[in-house]
Amino acid sequence: MINLNNDMTECDILLKGGTILTMDEAGSVLPRGYLAVRGDSIAEVGEGDGNGFRAKKVIDAGEGIILPGLINGHTHAAMTLFRGLADDLPLMEWLTNYIFPVESRMDGNFVRAGSLLACAEMILSGTTTFCDMYLFEEEVARAADKAGLRCLAGEVLYDFPSPNYGAVEEGLRYTESLIKRWQGNPRVSIAVEPHSLYTCSPSLLEAANDLALRYGVPLVIHVAETRSEVEEVKKRYGRKPFEHLAALNVLGPHVIADHCVHLDDAELRRMVEHGVKAVHNPESNMKLASGVSPVFKLLSAGVKVGLGTDGCASNNNLDLFAEMDMAAKLSKVEAMDPTVLDAVTVLGMATSMGAQVLGLSSLVGSLEPGKKADVIVLDTRQPHLTPMYNPYSHLVYAARGGDVSHSIINGTLVMEERRLLSLDLEEIMEEASSKSKTVLSWLSR
Ligand SMILES: [Zn+2]
Repeated sequence: MINLNNDMTECDILLKGGTILTMDEAGSVLPRGYLAVRGDSIAEVGEGDGNGFRAKKVIDAGEGIILPGLINGHTHAAMTLFRGLADDLPLMEWLTNYIFPVESRMDGNFVRAGSLLACAEMILSGTTTFCDMYLFEEEVARAADKAGLRCLAGEVLYDFPSPNYGAVEEGLRYTESLIKRWQGNPRVSIAVEPHSLYTCSPSLLEAANDLALRYGVPLVIHVAETRSEVEEVKKRYGRKPFEHLAALNVLGPHVIADHCVHLDDAELRRMVEHGVKAVHNPESNMKLASGVSPVFKLLSAGVKVGLGTDGCASNNNLDLFAEMDMAAKLSKVEAMDPTVLDAVTVLGMATSMGAQVLGLSSLVGSLEPGKKADVIVLDTRQPHLTPMYNPYSHLVYAARGGDVSHSIINGTLVMEERRLLSLDLEEIMEEASSKSKTVLSWLSR
């Protein structure tokens, strides 16, 4: 069909010339498709070159893959500044001698520098949304906002004084002020985030849950990450982790449980019963020798499972392509069955299902008209991606974060031909390097 100029529809960005994986419910793939962005949203997705559109900006995907931006379901963004500081140590030694001493000295400026570094790394490796838990979370929210990323952020809450908010009871007040301050932001929203069952008293968990329900926001918490955690909860309360949360009435579809490694069938049933969501962090679980989450069991029971990198000190990168590869392979080894966690399922965990887990599926996670335009382009003209029989296979088993060439978030182009447009990368890396000297001085004291 020939379109005359005056028949043309306006749009802001037209992506074309690639294979589009929509990750919609039908799993639609358009072998040669276009995607039109108008304002912050996807106006149209279709086959062909989108000749009916007059665009302010045209991006040719050059036979690459166009897909929804990836969703990192669990991060501690500022821990980028502890990357490679201490590895290959027993968990308690690592925490007590390295992580806790440096975290107790941090300030907002430190978290800002680490979070900006994380944001740069995430955009450059195809992530468009992340869910973060850390200290000085206002700085994380600001960094995400500046970077143009989508973010669900929450201040970590526990039973001891925080270098950020001070006394325990101030934590909930700080979280509430965050919720109010970020209300109405198009990309950044706030969750209530008690750290875990072994660092939070029953009364803190209940109060955190009340706050989450009062504002209709998610509650994010680490659950059943290690065997020793499960033993500790049993010793203290005579209950298994999800049993404990159920007894406190702190379970429901608003609960996002990170890790979920050590679960028996009764615990899994509790998750299903209460509609709890999970985030799988395979690389962190491997590196800290925490164990293997029974992800394929969770998925077949109907639990929504997202994918996360966890903090950079236990990964040690924020590349979700590496995480997808590991997620698929780890579950296959665990089940001794190569058919579990196939590539389509794993990509879903990092996109459409990941959005469901974070409560953002009405906005993002798939490429459909009306959804927010969070889209990435993968450059497949590379030896390790040639030839291409199956794009899902390449994304999960062969691609790397560095293969992402373009990123659009909420309709704004934040990376073009691998160039970060929203942040000054050199300045961010320089500041991060200078912070490493501070970290070393803290440890030598
Ligand atoms: Zn974590």
